[in-house]
Amino acid sequence: MAPSPEHDTATGAPLPPLVPFEQLAVIGCGLMGGSFALALKAAGLVQRVVGYARSPHTLARARALGVIDVEAPSALLAASGADLVLVSVPVAATGQTLRAIQPLIGPDTLVMDVGSTKGDVVAAARAALGERIGHFVPAHPIAGKERAGVEHASADLYRGCQVILTPTADTDPAYTERARALWQALQARVRLMAPEAHDAAYAAVSHLPHLLAFAAMRALAQQPQAAEFLALAGPGFRDFTRIAASDPEVWRDILLANAAQVRAQAQQFRAALDTFEAALDAGDSAGLRELIADASRVRTQWAAGAYSAAPSPQNPCTAPLSSTSPR
Ligand code: NAP
Repeated sequence: MAPSPEHDTATGAPLPPLVPFEQLAVIGCGLMGGSFALALKAAGLVQRVVGYARSPHTLARARALGVIDVEAPSALLAASGADLVLVSVPVAATGQTLRAIQPLIGPDTLVMDVGSTKGDVVAAARAALGERIGHFVPAHPIAGKERAGVEHASADLYRGCQVILTPTADTDPAYTERARALWQALQARVRLMAPEAHDAAYAAVSHLPHLLAFAAMRALAQQPQAAEFLALAGPGFRDFTRIAASDPEVWRDILLANAAQVRAQAQQFRAALDTFEAALDAGDSAGLRELIADASRVRTQWAAGAYSAAPSPQNPCTAPLSSTSPR
């Protein structure tokens, strides 16, 4: 049961030892919540995991898979007695979940979410948590898969990945530090951001790409020859459309929660598409080559780690052609 904290991944400074948690409540026992429970168990950082999900079937699966130890009949009862709560439901359900558990958040309980959008989550937390708002540390692990559900949960989902924390103005800094130490103990790299900056960035590098993948699949599927075309598709199509297989409920909520930023990115995309189409219309061979070269250069530099989220084959969060899907 030895915890594995050690050094701040940003500064290299030694971290205070992380005290293992007695009871983790996972509210939303799917891919993300299930992976968190398994990771904490594997690191010896929790004694007991109590779970709650919407359907009894999901709860039973989570128990059978060893993700949770105890099934709770409600979110409130899952949170009862927990010193750590993870809310891992689709983002639109975060507010009602926090409201439901608020009366039984203990005096030392750390509460986090894993939602892919943060402005809406912070607003919902402010409205729901009352005097316990200081305990809430909003988190977004940049890890995941296009397959939802507890069956796909794994103990190493978060290893090597970035986790963005967006503490509210009312979050107690001591809780932010506990959250940081916890994610670092799971081998994640922690970064703090303002919720608005988070949502602007992830509209560009995650939400718009998902929207484009969904739209591309729709555009193809609606054509009379769709079946014939799909039978001919190869690896480029597979790579480009992998995230189109993502969970509809989770992604409906993300796109609606961050609609303004996603629309702003969609405008940027439309302008770029217009530029490419204009080069095609004009038969502008040199111009088209230059446009592709610019895009190729940026993608190659990113893949080589020129930007801070350096991808590598060892890092499942950014490795090319892996089954993981940073969001
Ligand atoms: P998931 O596998 O579908 O799990 C969602 C879980 O939430 C399910 O157990 C579901 O229960 C439960 N749930 C749904 N509505 C609920 C409600 N009103 N009350 C209680 N439980 C409820 O989805 P996920 O991929 O883990 O996503 C969870 C969160 O993580 C989302 O906010 C998403 O934005 C975020 N996230 C996802 C990824 C990713 O790659 N998947 C990455 C980063 C962040 P039932 O099964 O019974 O319906």
